[in-house]
Amino acid sequence: MERTLSIIKPDGVSRGLIGDVIKRFEKNDIKIIAMKMVHLTQEDAEKFYAVHKERPFFASLTEFMTSGPIIPMILEGENVIEKNRSLMGATNYKEAAEGTIRRDFATDIEKNVVHGSDSPETAAVEIAFFFNQFEMNER
Ligand code: UDP
Ligand code: MG
Repeated sequence: MERTLSIIKPDGVSRGLIGDVIKRFEKNDIKIIAMKMVHLTQEDAEKFYAVHKERPFFASLTEFMTSGPIIPMILEGENVIEKNRSLMGATNYKEAAEGTIRRDFATDIEKNVVHGSDSPETAAVEIAFFFNQFEMNER
């Protein structure tokens, strides 16, 4: 059993897509074992996306991620890191496969509704960024 971090980004929350995103996970045998709503500070967002700090989109991305509340969740399931990435679709929604969250809901390469960890190592770091052990639920 594997765990990953998912985030419904500020655009997903403000556009009323929380239920649509969660439905995709529940329909695909993925368990949500932790969930909350938080509003990141600029410092938090820069820390979370530190891996991208040299990229041209870093300032805009961190500003976007602090523009409103987000919903971080821990997802659990078999092969869930890859499974979540394939439910999300490509970073650029124009290149995302049909039926993926980003293809169906994203409006912009930046405002692409969801985040998902990309490896076991980043999943562990990203889960610990948002949650402590008392917030993780056996189901
Ligand atoms: N992003 C962007 N422009 C780009 C690439 C990425 O604005 O050219 C944003 C987008 O919101 C993306 C996030 O930065 O989800 C993190 O980029 P990454 O390459 O890690 O994509 P992801 O893992 O989210 O698919
Ligand atoms: Mg990424």
